[in-house]
Amino acid sequence: MAIERTLSIIKPDAVAKNVIGQIYSRFEAAGLKVVAARMAHLSRAEAEGFYAVHKARPFFKDLVDFMISGPVMIQVLEGENAIAKNRELMGATNPKEAAAGTIRADFADSIDANAVHGSDAPETAAVEIAYFFRSSQVFAR
Ligand code: UDP
Repeated sequence: MAIERTLSIIKPDAVAKNVIGQIYSRFEAAGLKVVAARMAHLSRAEAEGFYAVHKARPFFKDLVDFMISGPVMIQVLEGENAIAKNRELMGATNPKEAAAGTIRADFADSIDANAVHGSDAPETAAVEIAYFFRSSQVFAR
């Protein structure tokens, strides 16, 4: 299995609930290493750019409003099969459909405020990591 990197964001709802540490513990327990991290309060332009792929979707404005409603914690996770592994830890987009024990089942309130973001494929992971971090800010471990 390949060592991959993926972009993870702990969204404003989960930061407000003070569960950054609990979410990091799940990454670590699953063998994912945090190789870059920073907290940020995204501007509207940054959030719109990040979610540009969803621009035509009906939920786009609400999604951007939510993502800029408070600070987020952004990290790069590294490990075997990191992209799929992180998606598994996250659970389904809609927390009502997320498997028991996943981050969204345990910490998310709704499909809009769903606690975490995770890249869904190698191509998007590379683009999303570069969106938030220069290569000198990502640390091989
Ligand atoms: N989203 C939403 N309403 C929807 C679908 C998605 O608010 O009906 C938001 C939700 O925050 C989700 C994000 O848009 O996490 C991106 O959607 P995607 O389908 O890519 O889900 P994800 O990859 O985050 O599970």
